[in-house]
Amino acid sequence: MSQLQLKSRSGENATINDETLTAFQQGVRGRLARPGSEDYDQARTIWNAMIDRRPGLVVRCAGAADVVRAVRFAGKHGLVLAVRGGGHNIAGNALCDGGLLIDLSLMKSVRVDPARRTARVEPGVTLGEFDREAQAFGLATPLGINSTTGVAGLTLGGGFGWLSRRLGLTIDNLLSADVVTADGELVRASEQENAELFWGIRGGGGNFGVVTSFEFRLHQVGPTVLSGLIIHPLDAARDVLRFHRDFVANAPEEFVCWFVMRKAPPLPFLAPEWHGKEILALAVCYSGNIEEGERVAKRLRAFGKPLADVIAPTPYVAWQTLLDPLLTPGVRNYWKSHDFAGLSDGFIDALVDHARRIPDPMTEIACAQLGGAVSRVPRGATAYTHRDGQYVLNVHGRWEDPAKDAACIAWARSLFQAVTPFATGGAYVNFLTQDEPERVRAAYGENYDRLVALKNKVDPTNLFGVNQNIRPTV
Ligand SMILES: Cc1cc2nc3c(=O)[nH]c(=O)nc-3n(C[C@H](O)[C@H](O)[C@H](O)COP(=O)(O)OP(=O)(O)OC[C@H]3O[C@@H](n4cnc5c(N)ncnc54)[C@H](O)[C@@H]3O)c2cc1C
Repeated sequence: MSQLQLKSRSGENATINDETLTAFQQGVRGRLARPGSEDYDQARTIWNAMIDRRPGLVVRCAGAADVVRAVRFAGKHGLVLAVRGGGHNIAGNALCDGGLLIDLSLMKSVRVDPARRTARVEPGVTLGEFDREAQAFGLATPLGINSTTGVAGLTLGGGFGWLSRRLGLTIDNLLSADVVTADGELVRASEQENAELFWGIRGGGGNFGVVTSFEFRLHQVGPTVLSGLIIHPLDAARDVLRFHRDFVANAPEEFVCWFVMRKAPPLPFLAPEWHGKEILALAVCYSGNIEEGERVAKRLRAFGKPLADVIAPTPYVAWQTLLDPLLTPGVRNYWKSHDFAGLSDGFIDALVDHARRIPDPMTEIACAQLGGAVSRVPRGATAYTHRDGQYVLNVHGRWEDPAKDAACIAWARSLFQAVTPFATGGAYVNFLTQDEPERVRAAYGENYDRLVALKNKVDPTNLFGVNQNIRPTV
């Protein structure tokens, strides 16, 4: 190795000489990668192809000890520091330009304890990997809906998916975490130990340290759930969604229904003349008893004249990957998101209006349903505060050709503006893009000041600054 110039937090470059670099390499069990190294590009390639950042040095960590060494190294040399879990974050916060990258993606262990119904999960694990291990015992914890997402970032921002109305957010099922703090110490955070840190990492993202291990509570789920899609023409969307909002308001918490507006992909169960036409898809999952689920879903399935209804008993792990083909890595993405207390007529109208003008076949309007167990946790109990939001809208601007950047981004922003009057003003930190740091405060609402106080205490120099940043004030 030879001398390296790395970006420091003061804005200057820090010179790392050969001797220092060699000692660093010898001290880690994983490996260092730098521009030109064999696996450098692999380490800096993330889900959103619009993000193209070049860290000056990557530590491909093999375990917690490597993370401790890397954090101390970054602290000692004053380096810009980024932390990569699954690399799915839309804003690209897994990467920095010129600084040090702590790459956790090779830390892949999942250890399920079926008797205690808990799991220990390392921070490079994806949702699909965790689900496969836990489902071998008929167990699961609430995660997201795309199996390649990282458990780490998803958990640190809150985390919700098909099980959340019944079992809460991912963080509501976090029992403890091992955290490397800004001074390079490995501590355990739980309700009993470092309780304020534990409060902060449940929604506060990577602002307070690097999590090297998560301990989750597991629940009996499936292994078969009743799930699938009901597809309507977009022209029917106003009526279907008005029916849907009343229907789901009274549905049991095992039942969840997200909806998506987009141009129809060439699905085998959809008549070819509908391929490429605008549709509304209801994505349904009932995670309780199958017969009971059939009974609950009956009225929704009977409404209107769906183009397709493919709801059926499905292995939970398969359902967890069903939307993957629509969310593949490597294309351009620009998202906008809002929280909603309900589906008002004006909100529905604005969605349908923009759905008619969707700028690309990959682009979609997705709306997640929350409530239930998520809303029963007090707003101040964890850093994630917007417990009363019943829906989270995610405008998935998604396309391949860079020439379409301006049109697709403009469409996403236009829809975001059109629905703003109907939104709560809250935001989900995991869906924020890189160009809206002013929304971080909104994402934390009344918990923001407490988060700043914690940041002042545990990371006053903002070593952990490449994230949806809670800036220290000391
Ligand atoms: C296609 C797609 C589908 C999604 N679906 C859902 C969904 O259904 N539900 C949902 O809740 N969210 C969903 N998300 C959002 C997802 O939760 C966030 O993108 C999340 O940040 C991804 O985590 P990651 O580890 O893959 O990301 P990364 O990009 O690696 O990291 C995200 C942030 O967390 C920090 N971080 C990562 N690991 C650690 C760690 N161990 N310690 C400290 N900081 C760390 C990073 O520094 C970065 O700031 C989805 C995202 C995508 C792209």
